[in-house]
Amino acid sequence: MKQIAAQIRDVSDFPKPGIVFKDITPLLRDPAAMHQAIQSMIAPFQDHPITVVAGIEARGFVFGALVASQLRVGFVPLRKPGKLPYQTQQIDYDLEYGNASLQIHRDAITEKDRVLIVDDVLATGGTALASCQLVETLGAEVAGCSFLLEISALQGRQKLAAYTLHSVLQYS
Ligand code: IMP
Repeated sequence: MKQIAAQIRDVSDFPKPGIVFKDITPLLRDPAAMHQAIQSMIAPFQDHPITVVAGIEARGFVFGALVASQLRVGFVPLRKPGKLPYQTQQIDYDLEYGNASLQIHRDAITEKDRVLIVDDVLATGGTALASCQLVETLGAEVAGCSFLLEISALQGRQKLAAYTLHSVLQYS
């Protein structure tokens, strides 16, 4: 865990004054730490009958695709509006300040699927909760959510109490 944590840096006042942003790009540059991170993200889900991984734009694509490859299942991107070319299903949700939307290709997931949601950071949990609800609108079951890191003080875990949740690192 120390090797992974050493490659995550705090950037103050990004993207706005007062915010301390967890920058995971040094981790992406370190293959040994990255390998450990992916192994740790999948560890609790190894024996779950997961059929597909859904990754949240944009860093969730990187972690999600590697997790999917390790689990030998496919990958589905959850994207901001206007990015996916085919027929989409959309969910709109509230953020701390303002609102946002995510889309999925309608034919990417079926009611037979058990989906693992993947992202880099769990903060307030609004994005992950919307992602769970979006795949559920297509009839699929959410098998769980896996994050590289969780900012515990923002209480995202409480918002996602209905789901199996895993984060490799916790920050207060
Ligand atoms: P939430 O909806 O408040 O949980 O925010 C989670 C989303 O915002 C995820 O898609 C993260 O990638 C992004 N995010 C929030 N805080 C950070 C951070 O400190 N570093 C990197 N991404 C973050």
